[in-house]
Amino acid sequence: MFRKATPTGAFSYRTRAGYLDRFQRETFDLVIIGGGITGAGIARDAAMRGLSVALLDKGDFAAGTSSRSSKMIHGGLRYLRYLQIRLVRESLREREVLLRIAPHLVHPFPYIFPVYESGSTSRLQLKVGLVAYDLLAGSRRVEHHTMLSADDLLKMEPALRRDGLQGGVRYFDCLVDDARLTLATISSAARHGAVVVSYAEVTDLERDDERVTGVRFRDHLDGRTGTVRSRVVVNATGPWTDELRAKGGAAPMLRPTKGIHLTLPHSSLPLSAIVAFPALDDRLIFAVPLGDCTYVGTTDTDYSASPDQAKADAADVEYLLSSVNATFQGAHLSPSDVISTWTGVRPLVFEEGAPSDVPRDYEIEMEPAGLASITGGKLTTYRAMAEDLVDRVLEKERKRFGWSVAPCRTAESPLPGGQLAGFERFAEATTSVLEETWGLPRPAAERLVRTYGAEYIRVLAYALPDRQLLRPFLPGGSVLRVEAIYAAAEEMALTLDDFMARRTDLMLFDHNHGLNAASEAARLMGNVLGWDRRQRQRQVERYREAVAAMTAFAADEQPAAAKKLP
Ligand SMILES: Cc1cc2nc3c(=O)[nH]c(=O)nc-3n(C[C@H](O)[C@H](O)[C@H](O)COP(=O)(O)OP(=O)(O)OC[C@H]3O[C@@H](n4cnc5c(N)ncnc54)[C@H](O)[C@@H]3O)c2cc1C
Repeated sequence: MFRKATPTGAFSYRTRAGYLDRFQRETFDLVIIGGGITGAGIARDAAMRGLSVALLDKGDFAAGTSSRSSKMIHGGLRYLRYLQIRLVRESLREREVLLRIAPHLVHPFPYIFPVYESGSTSRLQLKVGLVAYDLLAGSRRVEHHTMLSADDLLKMEPALRRDGLQGGVRYFDCLVDDARLTLATISSAARHGAVVVSYAEVTDLERDDERVTGVRFRDHLDGRTGTVRSRVVVNATGPWTDELRAKGGAAPMLRPTKGIHLTLPHSSLPLSAIVAFPALDDRLIFAVPLGDCTYVGTTDTDYSASPDQAKADAADVEYLLSSVNATFQGAHLSPSDVISTWTGVRPLVFEEGAPSDVPRDYEIEMEPAGLASITGGKLTTYRAMAEDLVDRVLEKERKRFGWSVAPCRTAESPLPGGQLAGFERFAEATTSVLEETWGLPRPAAERLVRTYGAEYIRVLAYALPDRQLLRPFLPGGSVLRVEAIYAAAEEMALTLDDFMARRTDLMLFDHNHGLNAASEAARLMGNVLGWDRRQRQRQVERYREAVAAMTAFAADEQPAAAKKLP
């Protein structure tokens, strides 16, 4: 039952064919459908406990909601307003765990909450909330809050509107690269023996009289179909949960809501901290400075169409821009300022009420026999959700299958790259060494360490035969050419989009969506993946199409990306 962890090479295009063969030959303890953060967490936990695990995703890992979040690992200050103390406490505890196991991906960041005369939150309410928040967190890694006068606030964030400003607060929560957190979790699962395959869609559930016994799938890369046998199937398909449950004859669980973000040039909304502010309808939204962009979000509206079709529309963009224009002086932003938008569908557990009032709790359903479904929750709480699901499956099925397993270790065991005590000191020292001895530009050196953590050295190893690979793709940029090779060889990136949108954030945060790097990235990935000239061209065309779709949020407006194509 206990397999040895595979140190490296388990999460690579090289292993994909072998994994598909194993699907045909083996019966797994768990087959997990969905490679978002929820499925990733379950795969890692179950594999570390010694269960045999397979995981399939119909697209790239993290391509669903898990790369479309607000990218915050947070307790959720606003949930205190609804007295959801248990959720806030659990989220803050998990924030602490993630700072420990993934210090390269999760980092504390200052947040500002301005209070205006016309707003519905007073300084006193905020003070009480934040004292509770700090107490619940009990953290030594994340600073406590400070109350600020209007003058102090304006010194920190001069872009804020002055009239009616009464003061506010500075507190700390965390930011994360959501897609890379998911990828690191799946990579860890694979290193512990999980068989993980992307671009393999589950098309149906296998059943005998009593129970679900496996899944049927289609490989989207070569069109082949197959079956995977399993003792228990886990439905972790986020907003697609009910589609899968319907195949097993199970009742729906979800109330999906759509959330969009938009990215603006930092110069048009120059902030140094994350600003939490009320939208025009008094919902709390955030403006987040990231590199030379600021992103703003999110909306929260009921959504009933397929999650595959979800995109920002003109009304979503207008809602966010008007809210920004009302809070920041001199911000006369219009849709033409928007660099990109991204859209996610929240897999919320069904409950009546306004979308933003629906609790972010999760639910596990163990019927019909042999199928466990999990939905709801947050990126922040994924690890605890996974632990709970694996515990529940074990409690129900351990005797039937004679499983004997190790206890959960995911809260202590670092994610790949995270095996570093004192990360900040390590990051600063290593960044300087990379600058001085490898000649890397500072932004690139910094990105390398903060993206790959202790595993940055494995990326560099791919540049040993050719130091030119240490050049950034774009002038002044921080993404290195060698990363495209590494993504294809070691991170299961199978398309150009996988690299541009989830292994890096060029698609969302480069002002031209990385289009000027696309051909070179396709060439480098193609050398690893064996693409011929036509395949490379096709990858670049598809990427352009994806960018154009992402930026075409207004029916009557030409897509921003189409305007900027070189
Ligand atoms: C706008 C927005 C902002 C958010 N911000 C935050 C935040 O800041 N902090 C936070 O903690 N949480 C946040 N959340 C919540 C968080 O992002 C989600 O709870 C989480 O990402 C859900 O992950 P998941 O794995 O359940 O779903 P997903 O990430 O959607 O994964 C489901 C996967 O299942 C796959 N799949 C579907 N059908 C099939 C099939 N038939 N066969 C194979 N695979 C299939 C999909 O391809 C997909 O990859 C936000 C959510 C939204 C929408």
